Order: sequence, then C-alpha cells, then structure tokens
Amino acid sequence: AKADGRKRERFFANEMEAQMQLRHALEADLRAAVEKEEFELHYQPLYDLTQRRICGFEALIRWNHPVRGRVPPMDFIPLAEEVGLVVDIGRWVLRRACDDAAQWPEGIKVAVNVSAIQFSSSDLTRDVSEALAAATLSPSRLELEITESVLMENLSEVLPILHALKERGIHISMDDFGTGYSSLSYLSSFPFDKIKIDKSFVNDIVDNKEAHAIMHAIILLGDALGMRVTVEGVETAEQLALLECEECDEIQGYHISPPRPAREVPHLLSLPPKN
Ligand code: C2E
Ligand code: CA
Ligand code: CA
Ligand code: CA
Repeated sequence: AKADGRKRERFFANEMEAQMQLRHALEADLRAAVEKEEFELHYQPLYDLTQRRICGFEALIRWNHPVRGRVPPMDFIPLAEEVGLVVDIGRWVLRRACDDAAQWPEGIKVAVNVSAIQFSSSDLTRDVSEALAAATLSPSRLELEITESVLMENLSEVLPILHALKERGIHISMDDFGTGYSSLSYLSSFPFDKIKIDKSFVNDIVDNKEAHAIMHAIILLGDALGMRVTVEGVETAEQLALLECEECDEIQGYHISPPRPAREVPHLLSLPPKN
C-alpha cells in the first residue's frame, strides 16, 4: 500500500509537472501571438428588443494558434492577466474594435471587455482615447464591459477612471451581473449605463417559475436604477418572447447569432427582425 501511495504521489508530481510545462509553453506562445497577429475579433449582435434590430456588437477575442488551433478566451485570458500580457492584448482589442466599428452604420455600437489588470497597470483612459482618435470613432459608440472583479480589485482606484471615461461619453456596462457575491452592492457605487444579466439566469426562465421570478426582479431593479438591461445567453424564441413581456431592453445570444468574424457584420445587419 505504501508503494502504491508513492506511485500515486509520483503520478501527481508528473501530472503537475506536465501542467506547468503546458502553461509555460502557452505563455511563451502568448507572448509571440501579439506580434505574430494570431488574434482575431469576432462580433456578436446586441439586439434591441423594442426596436427589433441590432443596435451593437460585442467584440470577443479569438486566438488562432498555429499548432493548437482555436484556443478559447477562457483558456488564455486568465493566463494573460496573470503574466501582465492582457495589457498589450487589451490595447490591441481596443484598437481593432474601434477600427472595425468605424466601418459600421452610425447607430451601431461596439462593446469591448476590459480586464481588471488594464485598470491597475496601464493608462486605460489614454489607451481608449488613442483607439477612438485613431479610428475617428465617436466615444458614444463605445461601451466598456467590466465585471465585478474589476471593482473588487480596487474600488478607489477604479472609480475615478470609470468617471473620467463616462464624462468623455463612453458607456460603461456591468458584465456577468448576478454571478459575483456582491454585485448588488456595486450598483450604488457607480452609475452604470447598462447591466448585462449573466446567461446562467436565462436557462430555466421558460419552465421554472422561480427562475422567471428572479429574472423579473433583476430587470425591474435595473429599470428602477435607470440602467439599460441586457440579457445574455438567449438561445430560444420562447426565451425571447418571455423577455419581451418583461420589458427587457436588449438581448444577446445564439438565438440572434453566435459571434461571427468582422466581415460578416454587414450580412448580420441585413437580416430580417427576429422573433
Ligand atoms: P463574456 O464577456 O461574458 O462573453 C459572453 C460569452 O458567452 C462568449 O464566450 C460568447 O460566445 C458566449 N455566448 C454568447 N451567446 C451565448 C449563448 O446563447 N449561449 C451560451 N452558452 N454562450 C453564449 P467567449 O467568446 O468564449 O468568451 C468567454 C469570455 O472570455 C468572455 O465572457 C469574456 O469574459 C472573456 N473575453 C472574451 N474576449 C475578451 C477580450 O477581448 N478581453 C477580455 N479581457 N476578456 C475577453
Ligand atoms: Ca462581456
Ligand atoms: Ca457576460
Ligand atoms: Ca428598461
């Protein structure tokens, strides 16, 4: 039994070693990826439920790894945050998203995800200004999506930056609303333009009374605070219909469209209204 234990220990040690090596390899590749332009932005429609039309697109990063293929953001963004690379990547995302949005019709906005690290280890306001100027895009066409972790990181440092951005006319959205353990308390610390209700809340709204009640309450809350309310992860016509009755402002999800490459934006904009 002792020998077995030792074998097991050795197995786990090897396993950990392998994980570490994979991480190191990925980190080295990630460093090179920025220069080798292996990143690409895909765009997912934000669909205005009242006007029944696309009113914007969220930019979602894609990494086309020469060997590993498409690496999902969840497999490299956390690593990029840990090693500080997310600052360079984030700058690239802002530039590309603003450049792309400048090609779209006036009424169409672009939403960009911003990581906590970009607030603490870079001059985010300057990076945003430079991206807007380079693209000659109006600040009112840009939305920045931040999660609760951004605020948790350092509220006193983050708030002045958010206010400065907002004063410039940039819109600020609270992303993944409801997933953190203190989302509610942050709603009173900053006047968000929009909350995006996390997709985990939409799953059962059609069949489950309690899930429906929670969705109803969150939408009312957002409304009462004067914020636009977006529901993420809408996958069916039934969910859309229910959210329309709830006077949700905006939806996003596979039912409208999955994220698509930038070249497909004109096609997405030409599609008939969705039910
Ligand atoms: P997120 O900001 O919450 O983005 C929404 C995610 O939900 C996207 O995953 C999107 O493809 C997915 N999604 C959209 N509609 C549906 C649906 O109907 N059903 C389901 N099940 N999923 C749906 P994706 O593209 O894999 O991105 C994952 C996360 O990676 C994002 O979550 C965001 O936190 C992060 N991320 C992506 N791009 C960037 C970026 O440029 N910068 C930073 N800092 N983070 C990013
Ligand atoms: Ca987002
Ligand atoms: Ca989200
Ligand atoms: Ca509303």
